[in-house]
Amino acid sequence: MQYTFCHYCGAKLPSGGKPHAPQSCAACGATFYHNAKPCAGALVVKDHRVLLVRRGIEPFKDYWDIPGGFLEAGEHPEDAARREALEETGLEVRLTGLHGIYVDDYGDTGHKTLNIYYLAEPLGGALRAGSDAAELRWFHYDELPDRTAFAHESKVLADWREREMSRR
Ligand SMILES: [Zn+2]
Repeated sequence: MQYTFCHYCGAKLPSGGKPHAPQSCAACGATFYHNAKPCAGALVVKDHRVLLVRRGIEPFKDYWDIPGGFLEAGEHPEDAARREALEETGLEVRLTGLHGIYVDDYGDTGHKTLNIYYLAEPLGGALRAGSDAAELRWFHYDELPDRTAFAHESKVLADWREREMSRR
C-alpha cells in the first residue's frame, strides 16, 4: 500500500521500494508509515465454548468470525473489544485477560491489521446477532470451524484451544 500524494502539502510522493516501506515527502519532509491498523476482538467463553459469528456480509460472507473490529480514534482496545462484542452478539462482557496479538492482511486490500484479542465472559444482555451477522454459535474447543474469515483467526482459535485444554 503506497500513497501517490502527500496528505499535507499535496506534492507527489516517490514510489517504488517495498509495498509497506515508509514514504517521505521531499517537499515538506512529512513521513507516512504504512503500519498495521489496530483492531480488537473478544473471545467470549463459557463452559469451554467460544462464541463465534457467521458473517452475513462481504468480505468473507458465511465464514465464521471472532467478534471484533477496527478501533475508533482515541478508543482503548479494551473498550473496542467490549463494544464490538455487544454490537455483534448482544452480550455485555467482562474482559478477563489478554489472549494475544496477531498481525494479518486485511483481505486483499494491501492493508495490514494488528489484532488484539481479549478473553471475556458474558455478563448480561441477550444473545442477538448484529446486523452484519447471519448466525451466532457457541463452539466447543474440540469442534472449532475449519474455515475462519481472516487467516489469523484460525491461529487465535488454535491458541485458545491449547489454553482451554491446559486448564481442564
Ligand atoms: Zn508534503
